[in-house]
Amino acid sequence: MALKILLRLLPPDALNFLLRQNVIRKAALRKAEKELYKFFVVLNRENRPLRMQESRFLMLQNLLHSLDRAISENRISPKVSRALISNFAGRVLMSESSCTQSFKDRYGFEPPAFLTISPTKRCNLTCRGCYASSSSESAETLPFNIVSRIIREKTEIWGSYFTVISGGEPLLYRSNGKTLFDIFEHHRDNYFMMYTNGTLITEEVAARMAELGNISPAISVEGFAKETDARRGKGVHSKILKAMDNLRKFGVPFGVSITATRDNADSIVSDEFIDDYFSNEGAVYGWIFQYMPIGRSYTTDLMLTPEQRLDLFIREEKIIKEHNLFMVDFWNGGPYSVGCISAGRPGGYFYIDWNGNMAPCVFFPYHLANAYDIYREGKTINDVLLSPYFSSIRSWQNEYGYTQPPDKVQNYIVPCIIRDHYEKAHSLISEFGAKPLDSSAAEALEDADYCCRMKAYGKDVMAITQKYWKDTFTGPLQKKDVR
Ligand code: SF4
Repeated sequence: MALKILLRLLPPDALNFLLRQNVIRKAALRKAEKELYKFFVVLNRENRPLRMQESRFLMLQNLLHSLDRAISENRISPKVSRALISNFAGRVLMSESSCTQSFKDRYGFEPPAFLTISPTKRCNLTCRGCYASSSSESAETLPFNIVSRIIREKTEIWGSYFTVISGGEPLLYRSNGKTLFDIFEHHRDNYFMMYTNGTLITEEVAARMAELGNISPAISVEGFAKETDARRGKGVHSKILKAMDNLRKFGVPFGVSITATRDNADSIVSDEFIDDYFSNEGAVYGWIFQYMPIGRSYTTDLMLTPEQRLDLFIREEKIIKEHNLFMVDFWNGGPYSVGCISAGRPGGYFYIDWNGNMAPCVFFPYHLANAYDIYREGKTINDVLLSPYFSSIRSWQNEYGYTQPPDKVQNYIVPCIIRDHYEKAHSLISEFGAKPLDSSAAEALEDADYCCRMKAYGKDVMAITQKYWKDTFTGPLQKKDVR
């Protein structure tokens, strides 16, 4: 690929200078699009359903366009774009490091692309339905040396240069006088995305992010001011707007992270919402997380109905195709991610919480391994990846579609082992004796009514989306090579 050759030949400073020139960047963008289309659709070396590959191409194309728009409008500072080139493009997107290859040769599959780590449970807000049940009282925090060791290991063993930080509120992280910025600084070879409530992003914090360049915050919103303040607390929305202002001022790219519930599913995909956060505030990307009934006061009543789920999927597709936005729904996004990415699937991840417990996914809160234990036993995070518990989840993913030929791939609009196929998740948790991450996860596991509702939800959502999946993603391309 031309971009790959450029990344190899030119030092990041030179490439950064060239890509900040509009004419050169537009030409590079067109070239990159052609290469991506060839990779995903024409060659399709992974042998996936072709119409799904076309959607995956479109999503990446949207990411490139979003970054292009942000640079054109001066929303990304030169220092940050340099870090984006050397870290995100150079290492994350183009990662074919020798350790990745040697991992594949040794174990027969590709390593995960990233980890999500919640270094602290502490939070300055108490949002309704928080998946982490965080609050200002919560003191659980992973020591700096453990967080740092985990990041170093994944970089060295897997060739993974992308790290997601969640929480709690990550900006409240403190360990032996160190903050999260010490983590970012210590691991400058990684690119970090941090989920944050945004209320602590002052001018000083934004300036520090700009100086380091290897961090992008994804700020939580629930819709507009009314919905955000209703769930997160009065005055939170105006603090978020101030944070976005600070990030724009210092040229730090940011995204929005939205929890979709039965109540806001309509408004978060409205034109008004898109205009507000993407056009006016300048968000570069968006993540939608459909409310998952885990965490504080969990209830299946806030989950999207199966009908809403399909409607949301169709409207998200429209946003991707017509607004050219990089906006991914963590559940409906199955066709883009090739299904469930938990348990360290190739290109996927697993989750480590503030107690060092290692679960398949943020939303699959049942674990067997713990960071303190594995380090005491002289093991690494790779031993957790290879554990029978995680391997059995990856086997399910493989059977569902990841390693299947196109005509055997099952419905990826409903890819989630714990949300859409709860029966399977429940049986694996029991078989391996996986332990809940917290008391609400323990309660849910024993709750017969919850179990019944989750199983029924999976069946209903499969029935409602199956025809759409078949009509939209299976079979030959509608138009022959459009490029
Ligand atoms: S378990 Fe569900 S939420 Fe987690 S990665 Fe898989 S599909 Fe996504």
